[in-house]
Amino acid sequence: MTPIQELRDPRHDRHRACRDHPDPEIFDPISPSQFAEAITVCASCPIVDSCGEWALCHREWGVWGGLLFEDGQLTEPKRSAA
Ligand code: SF4
Repeated sequence: MTPIQELRDPRHDRHRACRDHPDPEIFDPISPSQFAEAITVCASCPIVDSCGEWALCHREWGVWGGLLFEDGQLTEPKRSAA
C-alpha cells in the first residue's frame, strides 16, 4: 500500500477516466445500474489502484477505484430496483 503522504487526490488527475463523464452522479450511486456503470468507467482508469487507496485513507463516500465506500469503509451496493 502506498504511504498516505504519497497519494495524490484522484479528482485532480487529468488522466482519470471519470474526468469528462456526462453523469458524475453515478459515482454516488443510488441504484445497482448506476453502480455498474461507475465500476465500468473505473475499470478503464489508469489510476484505479491509487484512487481506491485514496478513498480508504481519506474516509470517502461513493465509488472510488471501482469500489463502493461509506465513510472510508468498503461496502456493498444497495439492492434496490435499477
Ligand atoms: S478509479 Fe474511478 S473514480 Fe477513481 S479516478 Fe478513476 S474513474 Fe474516477
